[in-house]
This record gives sequence, C-alpha cells and structure tokens, in this order.
Amino acid sequence: MENFNGIVEKNPILRLMKQGEEVLWMNPQKTSFEESMADCELGQKDVDEAEQRLLRFAPLIQKYFPETKEQNGLIESPLVEIDAMKQRINEKYDSALEGKLLLKEDSHLAIAGSVKARGGIYEVLKHTEDLVMEHRLLKDGESYARLGEPDVKSFFNEYTVQVGSTGNLGLSIGIISAVLGYHVIVHMSADAKQWKKDLLRNYGVDVREYEGDYGEAVKRGRALSDADKNSYFVDDENSRNLFLGYSVAGKRLQKQLAKMQIKVDEEHPLFVYIPCGVGGAPGGISFGLKQIFKDSVHCFFVEPVQAPCMLLGLATGLNHQISVQDIGLSGKTQADGLAVGRPSAFVGDIMKTMLSGEMTVQDYRLYDYMRDLLETEEIFLEPSACAAFQGPVCVNRREEWKDYLAKNGLETKMKNAVHIVWATGGSLVPEEIREEYTHTNIIK
Ligand SMILES: *Cc1c(COP(=O)(O)O)cnc(C)c1O
Repeated sequence: MENFNGIVEKNPILRLMKQGEEVLWMNPQKTSFEESMADCELGQKDVDEAEQRLLRFAPLIQKYFPETKEQNGLIESPLVEIDAMKQRINEKYDSALEGKLLLKEDSHLAIAGSVKARGGIYEVLKHTEDLVMEHRLLKDGESYARLGEPDVKSFFNEYTVQVGSTGNLGLSIGIISAVLGYHVIVHMSADAKQWKKDLLRNYGVDVREYEGDYGEAVKRGRALSDADKNSYFVDDENSRNLFLGYSVAGKRLQKQLAKMQIKVDEEHPLFVYIPCGVGGAPGGISFGLKQIFKDSVHCFFVEPVQAPCMLLGLATGLNHQISVQDIGLSGKTQADGLAVGRPSAFVGDIMKTMLSGEMTVQDYRLYDYMRDLLETEEIFLEPSACAAFQGPVCVNRREEWKDYLAKNGLETKMKNAVHIVWATGGSLVPEEIREEYTHTNIIK
C-alpha cells in the first residue's frame, strides 16, 4: 500500500476526513457548464438515445409490470414538496433554509424500489436490444411487447446476466433479468441483507454468497461471466450504460417542475443533494440535470464519514487511485448502498469540473433524518437515502457555503431557490425491518 500521509497532512479537509469528521467541501475545480463539457466523452445526444430506447421498451415494461401502466410503461418517480420537513430542519437543526424543499422519490420507483431502477434496468434493456438486433428477434416496426410472448421469450433462457452487489443493484438487475427470461446470477458479499437475497430467490435468481467483501463478489462474478460467451456482466464501476440510464432523469425532472409551476433559471437556482456510493447514480443524474439546467443547477453528493470515496478521489485529484482505507477509514457504514471504498474512475473524471461540492455525514444522523421525515411527512426512506438530508441541514451553518454563494452571485437569490433531496431507496424494505430501523439509535 502506498503511503498517502504526505497528501493528507498538507490538506486541511483531508485531515478532518481522516478523523471521521463531517465536512463540507466546495469543488475548487468546478467550471462553467460549457467548459466542463468541452472534452466530455458523453453528451445530450447519448442521453436522448437512452430515453428513446426506454420508450421502445415501454410497451414490454407495461406488460410485465402493470404498476407502470399509469405512466405508459415509463419508470419514473414522484416529485413532492416537503414543507413540514423543511420546518423541522429549520427548527431542529437551526438551518435557516429558504426557498422550496422538494423530495425526489426514487425510493418509490417501480420494480426495484430504489434509484437502481434507473441505471440497472436500462442496462439490461440495452443488452436485450443488442441481442434482439443481432439475432433479428423482431420484424421491422414490431412492438417490443412481442419479446414477452413465450416463443420469443424462451430465446433469453440461453443467456445469462451476472452482477456483483451488496444489495440494490442486485435487486434491480436480478428482477428485470429474471422477468425478461434470462438466467441470472447475483454475486453477493457476506454482509448483504437477508431479505434482499430472499426476494431475489423468489424471482428464481441464483444468489451466490461469498465470505469476503463486495470486491471479492465482483471479482468472482466477473471471472465466471467472462468464461461463458453467453453471459453478460454488469460492471458497476465502469458502465456507460448504467450512467446513461440514470441521466434520463434530467428532462423528466424538468417536466415535473414545469407542471408544478416551479421555475429554475438564473434567478431561481436549483440545488440537488444525492447520496453517493461508487458514483454512477449521482453522477448520471447530475450529468442529466446539468444538460438541461446548465449553470442554474448546483449538484452536491453526500457520503458517509467512513466511506467518502468520491470526495477523497476528487479532493486529492487521485480519483480511483486512492481508497478510503488508504487514509485509515474503515469503509463501513449503516448506509449499505454507500459502503464503497474506491470511486468509479470514469464518473470521477466526468464530475471533476461539474460537481459543486460534497458533504459527509455521520451514521447516527441517518436514523434521525429517517424519523424526522416519517414524523413530518409520513414517508419512509432507507438509511442510505436519508444521507441526502445532510445537504439542507448543514449548508447554511458553514462558511464554505457562504463563500460559494458570494462567488456565484447567489446571495440575493436564495429566497427563490429550489432544493431537491434525492431519495434513493426504501419502498421495498419489509415492514419488520422498517420497524427495527425506527428504533435504531447509534451512539455518536
Ligand atoms: C446505489 C445507491 C446509491 C448510490 O449509487 P452509486 O451509483 O453507488 O453511487 C445511493 N442510494 C441508494 C439507496 C443506493 O442503493
């Protein structure tokens, strides 16, 4: 292992992170939207293609998952104003938040009950379309709903989809692949939640468990998949498809805001707070939002104090060359969706001039925020998703925030601001586990 002590000692924020302190980091490398896109490998054209692909699959999705009928087979979540929670945040945490506070309920996305219903399902559909083209499974102009009829569906029995996961990605990939007719293997680390394994097995998914950690499960899964020419491996760290599946959220959010008559422009800035693990979900969503709202949207990631891998990569400039263990952090957190020690290199590279900043959060707060939201709005989120509330809770009390507002000419516009907390998961959590969570207290 390399010695990173020199780097840590020179940088005040890294010293705090090493001690497990909560930090607010403003990205010194952030540029204008236009500059940040200058040498970017992806663009709005790629996002539009992803959206078109999802539209082609909508009749099939609707057929398999009737709960998506109301939205014509699109998997999209509600956007709701949470004014009572805003009051709670201002009173309990002394936050002085102005403007509107909204919740983007990816916790309630159809099929997978988490943000992974965006990227994970999109990636499996993309792979499916590639097979459809290669093997000419559909006639010109034929509806994709045809892929759900027994004679065509049986084709997919010969193909395998594999993924390594501690939880939500496995759920999303596992459920959609099994329903489409694939043979599915989900490789899970020892600490994956039992209810997630049970749920997948109910869908006929082959769930394999490994003694080691997440990295071990991914390694074994990839090796097995590579050895089988009919097997496809979903690569959480490097997949452009996952990323583009998430990015479709941009235009859809724009429509929802318009419908609620909420303006976003130079005079009405939008602030978005998204929990971050390896970076694909928050990166893809931010990328999609940036294409639409450009310099009027300010994107922030939130990570646990023991697993701030993306922040570490960005703040040191070392990207995936450094892990949280390299600075003495454990990588362990109650936020299982965020328990990642090393960020995606590809996402770090795209976000390094686009992201406004990051905040980190202690585990005990996740349960506090969870109960606050339940009490004020009667909405349940899983602990990982609650990390996003650290944004609106902490910003106004920090000097770094004031500097950012001043530098961007935002001070007088905050009355008009829109803050969106991105709720990344929760609706599939079984009742007895919810009950357990609501009584969980962690000593600070
Ligand atoms: C996966 C996940 C995230 C973060 O997504 P990454 O792509 O790993 O950064 C956040 N919240 C929940 C609930 C998740 O399952």
